Amino acid sequence: MKTSFRFQAGALQCLAVADGVNVYDVKPVFLNAPEGERTQGLARYGAEPDVVAIPYICLVVAVGGQLVLVDTGAGSRHGETVGRLVPNMMAAGIDPADIDLVILTHAHTDHIGGLTDNAGRLQFPAARYIMHRADWEFWRLKENLDELGWSEIFPEIEAKLAAIEERVELVDGGREILPGVRLLPATGHTPGHMAVVFSSAGEALWSVGDLLGHPLHLEYPEWYMAYDLAPAEAIRTKKAILAQADKGALAHVFHFPFPGIGRIQPAGDGWRWQPLEQAR
Ligand SMILES: [Zn+2]
Repeated sequence: MKTSFRFQAGALQCLAVADGVNVYDVKPVFLNAPEGERTQGLARYGAEPDVVAIPYICLVVAVGGQLVLVDTGAGSRHGETVGRLVPNMMAAGIDPADIDLVILTHAHTDHIGGLTDNAGRLQFPAARYIMHRADWEFWRLKENLDELGWSEIFPEIEAKLAAIEERVELVDGGREILPGVRLLPATGHTPGHMAVVFSSAGEALWSVGDLLGHPLHLEYPEWYMAYDLAPAEAIRTKKAILAQADKGALAHVFHFPFPGIGRIQPAGDGWRWQPLEQAR
């Protein structure tokens, strides 16, 4: 099975790296979807009615001599099917010690779990880290997780975030963090969820985190996930960002079918996903 995928965005060398695949019950992934449409839609993607395989895919982009990593995968405590980012990255010829900057789209465990190994050591020891302040503050407050019924994952989130406390830079809004690398608030999925836009030589690559969980969320923009903490805001944000990202740019979607790289095309009342291999 392929675990990494090289491509170019403008003059930027990019690598999508698989962290693994997890199997989810379909209901929380399509929380408000009518069952019939959901089942038919999933069948078009070759999926069964009740469970859906959801990949985790990180992104590495070389920007002016710096290696930028977007999200870190689930880490190894989530079972053997995920948490493979570091070995897969090394197999592709990238030393984790060479990562200069880690951008965290949000603080869900499938995105920050790979910050440290099982011994609590940083997996990207030379990197600086960037995260939205609203997510940093929300996920470090145990009462917020208690309220969501997620108390049991608080210690893991707290340990991962504490590990980068000395090196993290918290941002409040949209801003250019490196030449041609722009952060974009994309709130709703979490309070500080962000997208990252890489621009080079007239081409753009939109790395949209969990703005979308499955290609069906493009076709049915009103469908949301149980993991979208503020669903109405998540849908508004999704539509606003897709309306900008559907102008021929490349997109990286963390949970889309491997390699998670393609183009977002307007289609009917929504959009559709065109994987890169077919796009070129
Ligand atoms: Zn996720």
